[in-house]
Amino acid sequence: MLEVLRRLIQDVNAADSLEDALALIVAQVRAAMRTDVCTVYLHDKATQKLVFRATEGLNSEKVGQFGLGFDEGLVGWVATREEPLNLDDASAHPQFQLVEGLGEEPFNAFLGAPIVHQRDLLGVLVVQQGDHRRFSEDEEAFLITVSAQLAGLIAHAELAGVIRESATVPEDSEGGARLSGVAACSGIGIGIAAWVSPHADLQTVPSRESSDRRAELKAFREALASVRSDIQQVAENLEEELGPEDRALFGVYLSILDDSALGGEVAALIKAGEWAQGALSQVMLRHIRHFERMEHSYLRERAVDVRDLGTRVLGYLQDANRQEVDYPDATVLVAEELTASALGEVPREKLVGIVSMRGSANSHTAILARAMGIPAVVGVEDLPLKQLPDRQLVVDGYNGRVYVNPHPDLLSRFEGLLAEDEALFEELAPLAQQPAATSDGHAVPLWVNTGVAADVQRAREFGAGGVGLYRTEVSFLLRDRFPSEEEQRQLYREQLEALHPSPVTMRTLDIGGDKALPYFPIEESNPFLGWRGIRVTLDHPEIFLTQVRAMLKANEGLDNLRILLPMVTAIDELRSARELILRCHSEVMSEGFSAALPPIGVMIEVPAAVYLAGPLAEEAGFLSVGSNDLTQYLLAVDRGNARVADLYQALHPAVLAALRDIIDAAHHHDKSVSICGELAGDPRAAPLLVAMGFDQLSMNAGSLSVIKRVLSAFSRDELSQLLAIVRPLRSAQEVVSALDQALGDRGLDIFLRRGSAV
Ligand code: PEP
Ligand code: MG
Repeated sequence: MLEVLRRLIQDVNAADSLEDALALIVAQVRAAMRTDVCTVYLHDKATQKLVFRATEGLNSEKVGQFGLGFDEGLVGWVATREEPLNLDDASAHPQFQLVEGLGEEPFNAFLGAPIVHQRDLLGVLVVQQGDHRRFSEDEEAFLITVSAQLAGLIAHAELAGVIRESATVPEDSEGGARLSGVAACSGIGIGIAAWVSPHADLQTVPSRESSDRRAELKAFREALASVRSDIQQVAENLEEELGPEDRALFGVYLSILDDSALGGEVAALIKAGEWAQGALSQVMLRHIRHFERMEHSYLRERAVDVRDLGTRVLGYLQDANRQEVDYPDATVLVAEELTASALGEVPREKLVGIVSMRGSANSHTAILARAMGIPAVVGVEDLPLKQLPDRQLVVDGYNGRVYVNPHPDLLSRFEGLLAEDEALFEELAPLAQQPAATSDGHAVPLWVNTGVAADVQRAREFGAGGVGLYRTEVSFLLRDRFPSEEEQRQLYREQLEALHPSPVTMRTLDIGGDKALPYFPIEESNPFLGWRGIRVTLDHPEIFLTQVRAMLKANEGLDNLRILLPMVTAIDELRSARELILRCHSEVMSEGFSAALPPIGVMIEVPAAVYLAGPLAEEAGFLSVGSNDLTQYLLAVDRGNARVADLYQALHPAVLAALRDIIDAAHHHDKSVSICGELAGDPRAAPLLVAMGFDQLSMNAGSLSVIKRVLSAFSRDELSQLLAIVRPLRSAQEVVSALDQALGDRGLDIFLRRGSAV
């Protein structure tokens, strides 16, 4: 049975249209179950009918001709209850109803299963048979399995159909489709979908013996050179965002083509007599297949890079890659997986949005999108790529949604929001250089989170009071090897100097989870509960020591460094890390540097650290709450999984209770406590966090002015009142409503949709 199911899924996946997919389903299910009839009814949301969409065994002329209400027939019964119905004599059931001309009369046994996708009833799958008999438990289980497995595919095929059809729907009708993913960069982008330049196809190159090996080798080398110069151009386009240091990303990318890597393998095949195109395609496809089979997601993603580079080189070999692509003035880049090179190819002034099927909020694309400030939604699993180019898209980077061919009403709503955003941006600009304070003049320190060079620039422009979290791993992610001590020292020096004399909090390398280094893959079945953050660096003191030495040296003469330890779950981790830091400090001093010992802080990101906040606060220099991970671990909800995104509630009362305990513990020991997760930059949450007693809120630079504006609408007393209102609430929804009301009362509604808390 498993084999039947596997084949069916494969066939349905390959189907060109919803009709084809449904036809395959009814034919294959009928054959596998040896029944007389198999039928699919699909739920038409506009008419609220279960429409007869495909059959094997009943009158196929009726397909599309009628629909049943939820109170009609056995199909309606299954749909209403969303549970299977197994009858030996269908006509004896009180809700049995004959549809004229359908040809159901000879069939007595009936088995129906609902088709449900993400709590949404898509339709009903039915098998029928002449015999008077109850279907066996195995048969019932099989039909339920088929229906559960097919639900996602049907949803996908339906969506593709909606998108195709809505291209021609009249202006006044309901149209368009909505897709969900993970918000990777906030903001709204409205534009036309475009793929990056169409490339040659590695799959279609035949193997052929070359007539002139030298000429083939020369052609290959020339093609390589052209691709290198294209990618270098792309890297230059991104210079402003990345800064020279982090452009190493493209070096990593290009190194795939080096003689010591795949380039060498291709050359060897050419020398052995294969023509250049054939050699290239064979080597690339072999490596793509190899990477695609890898368990680890980071390595699987490398297949995308290899394919991208391979097709670029092939394009030059085939002379097909030369034409300039004319990107629409407002381009939304769409792809299965966006590569950094694709991102740099669209002229910056034309790029308004990014949508990808794969990728998480921490993928390279997401990091780049955020550095560039382009609204982005990633991980849109249902993205029907083939249908998208030239369609109009709305990218809602606040809520992780994408709208295809939006209905005119929806479009004008988003155009309105975009215009509001732009007006707001202008209105808030003067706030950049003003300090953050409540309406009665109490200062609130707002700090920034940084990762790449552009973030530091923006931090200065927006008047940050310090850096609350410098994610050092971003620079590690953009390279093909660990950066040397000197490379790190330069990077850190830049950060420390840019904000001097304000404090800069540097987090030691935080990899693992969904952040894997290309050159240090970690293969685990449950990476978020695995080798992450401080666990990795304590196991690899050589990595930790190099990094800390670089930080201490960079701090010479500036003295604004703070060191922060990620993912701490036990006091021993803090003690061991401090010992290593002290060792580095004395080494660096003995090398002649005059380096002060910086404060050492602990991130509170896991439940164990919440319960241990007292001892940690006593022994550490400061605490910083990583609310992104803390929410994930307290609520047991994967922060990067779109399917459970609704359950990821940073304003859940359990999270708020944990925050209160952490603040109490820190203040009890006279230590400062900041919060540096996304929650800090959420306009809905910020007043509450200040009221709770956080000493600093650290956020993305782009949120600073918004948060300044929101906080300036509350007096200290009003903040205390807000805290008293929220404290007894028992659900995230209640907390959100209370906060919404507080903002609404102060005319701050416009900021609410920026919130990402619930
Ligand atoms: C967090 O977990 O809240 C945090 C700030 O760290 P990161 O998002 O980098 O895991
Ligand atoms: Mg974290």
